[in-house]
Amino acid sequence: MKIFYTDSFAMALPQDHRFPINKYALLRKRLTRSSRFAPQDFCTPRAATTAEITRVHTPDYLRRVQTGGLTAQEVRRIGLPWSPELVERSRRSAGATIEACFAVLDKGVAVHLGGGTHHAFSNQGQGYCVFNDSAIAARCLQAETRIRRVLILDCDVHQGNGTAVIFQNDPTIFTFSIHGRNNFPYHKEKSDLDVALEDGTGDAVYLDALQTGLIESLRRSGAEFVIYLAGADPYSGDRIGRLNVSKEGLAARDRMVLDRCRRARLPVAITMAGGYAPNIEDTVDIHFRTVLIASQIQKLYI
Ligand SMILES: [Zn+2]
Repeated sequence: MKIFYTDSFAMALPQDHRFPINKYALLRKRLTRSSRFAPQDFCTPRAATTAEITRVHTPDYLRRVQTGGLTAQEVRRIGLPWSPELVERSRRSAGATIEACFAVLDKGVAVHLGGGTHHAFSNQGQGYCVFNDSAIAARCLQAETRIRRVLILDCDVHQGNGTAVIFQNDPTIFTFSIHGRNNFPYHKEKSDLDVALEDGTGDAVYLDALQTGLIESLRRSGAEFVIYLAGADPYSGDRIGRLNVSKEGLAARDRMVLDRCRRARLPVAITMAGGYAPNIEDTVDIHFRTVLIASQIQKLYI
């Protein structure tokens, strides 16, 4: 199974910054040490090109990101200090999701150990998201392969508001988001299918709601390809997640999603999306399990 990573593109954050940037390197280290993967499974992605990015983002927004021309308010909304390294990492992250998609055009599962930056709109970033990697990759599939219909399955605990708006009037890309009703973003956009959960929702209700949404999404989308955002932030111990889903519940979620995709013979590219547990190892645990489950299911694709 191909595993793309971008943690080697270092990006300096202030000491007290709340974004858990270290989770990516810790996750890769954990996967490497598990000796379940071959060294050649781990790949450094290319950067997304300007042409690829501007299929989704406005040329003006891209130019201002690129040159440090964002306003102070725009930078605040993104929540990460601007630097040339931030730009490079964001481009590589979009490139990693593209490459994960192209690694499994016919069948199977590939993973990007980052991405899921679903709060990025065509003309602005938000909530640690500069470019919308899922949207860029979906457009890339449409432009460069025979794939027309893509399902974006967003299981991060925050609504995929940027993705929802980008594809609002596009029947070829189906957006599904299962998230906490009271979570950021406080103004929700309209996905093709939204499932909003109450604070404290536990495993049973979560998995039941997911199953129903998943079945409906697969049926309505007519998808030929799935991009799955396997956010770790529905976890009960998450600092900002508000739900009460256990690590076992999240593993059951990953198995449910990937198993249904495999039965429908759909290729899947997985991104990690959010995860903000006070103990970073909990977030890493959850992402690690996602990648292991993906590699198990990858072997079952025929
Ligand atoms: Zn999130």
